[in-house]
Amino acid sequence: MRPPLIHATSRAMKVETLIIGAGAAGMMCAAHAGPGALVVDHARAPGEKIRISGGGRCNFTNLHTSADNFISQNRHFAKSALGRYTQWDFIALVDAHRIPWHEKTLGQLFCDTSAKDIVALLRAEMARAGADLWLDTHVGEISHAGTEFTARLTRDGREITVAARNLVLASGGKSIPKMGATGFAYQVAAGFGLPVVTPRPGLVPLTFSDDRFRPLAGVATPARVTAHGTGFDEALLFTHRGLSGPAVLQASSYWCEGDPISINLTPGTDLLAALQQHRHSDGRKALTTILSQYLPARLVDYLKDGFNLLGTMADQGDARLAALCDALRDWQVTPSGSEGYRTAEVTLGGVDTSALSSQTLAAKTVPGLYCIGECVDVTGWLGGYNFQWAWSSGSAAGQAIRQG
Ligand SMILES: Cc1cc2nc3c(=O)[nH]c(=O)nc-3n(C[C@H](O)[C@H](O)[C@H](O)COP(=O)(O)OP(=O)(O)OC[C@H]3O[C@@H](n4cnc5c(N)ncnc54)[C@H](O)[C@@H]3O)c2cc1C
Repeated sequence: MRPPLIHATSRAMKVETLIIGAGAAGMMCAAHAGPGALVVDHARAPGEKIRISGGGRCNFTNLHTSADNFISQNRHFAKSALGRYTQWDFIALVDAHRIPWHEKTLGQLFCDTSAKDIVALLRAEMARAGADLWLDTHVGEISHAGTEFTARLTRDGREITVAARNLVLASGGKSIPKMGATGFAYQVAAGFGLPVVTPRPGLVPLTFSDDRFRPLAGVATPARVTAHGTGFDEALLFTHRGLSGPAVLQASSYWCEGDPISINLTPGTDLLAALQQHRHSDGRKALTTILSQYLPARLVDYLKDGFNLLGTMADQGDARLAALCDALRDWQVTPSGSEGYRTAEVTLGGVDTSALSSQTLAAKTVPGLYCIGECVDVTGWLGGYNFQWAWSSGSAAGQAIRQG
């Protein structure tokens, strides 16, 4: 292994690798890059998104991870990194650190105790690899000449110029600006001539300009929500401002402004057969009473006028019931927007994968420059996929740097 390459004076120093961003991807990269890596972050603590993720328990990977669970202009791009450092590799690392975990649902793995366990794991792995971590550090101008990158940093009120052979952009996307998300990686990448796919919020609640769903705020129901031909069977939650819940968050990543989404309120149920049966056994009961056995009563009440839910079961002919079931399977609504970066779990788009090696995440046109994690145009579904991408892309770049 190469010895640490750090020569410091009061104003200038040299490192082998400068990693901007001590999030999931940056710390994983440092753990693999070997000695001589310096990770800098403007936050006061590393891995803040890890700490708050999964309700404080961090959904750190998904058993079923494959490239199919990611959105990118090049849907094959993620395969190589995901195959080199898999969910099983990360689970083995979690086990090696004796962190207890469990599967919640749909292959989603969570810490039993706290997401802080994952941050501690990454810090320990970085320390073992001999990487340095500077927090509360502002990154100013970055330049590149010959084989060297130069970054102006400000730390403890002092300006320090750091020269590095490798520069890794790991500063994430624009989601949750309150937590320090900046879109900085896009600016730096663009400055180096790398194309950037226009970023937009993903895994985000959808909103409506009127307050049509206000009466339903707090109601949750299983649903299949489809946007642009891709559907997700999970919970749907009505909110004061619109729609949320896992099914909507997932679909939001496929939704384009102006398009309707389709909501199937009775996924996996043969409602028509059930209602025909009720017509025989419960002919005198109101249609709304029977529907409330299959849908939340508040939702049935809300749909009563728009779906014309009048009369008793005996009043409903076959054609009427079939039309009603079709309408409940394909309820089309058109959101006016989303909650935006304020609450979006991820940022779609980012550094265009056509400019990067899928094996190493290195920029094809700028030797020594790497882009990893959320700043790349690879975005996972809800369910631990985004952290797996951070581990896989971070490890791919780190290993390439170590093998140098
Ligand atoms: C509330 C929430 C919950 C989530 N839960 C999950 C989950 O359970 N499972 C899952 O897979 N995904 C989850 N995600 C998504 C996941 O957190 C991200 O995809 C992942 O953190 C991306 O890793 P990253 O290292 O690329 O970026 P980040 O984790 O965002 O790290 C980027 C780092 O760069 C730093 N930085 C930014 N700009 C600058 C700058 N200009 N100078 C210096 N430093 C800078 C930031 O402070 C940050 O530390 C969640 C996201 C949110 C917002």
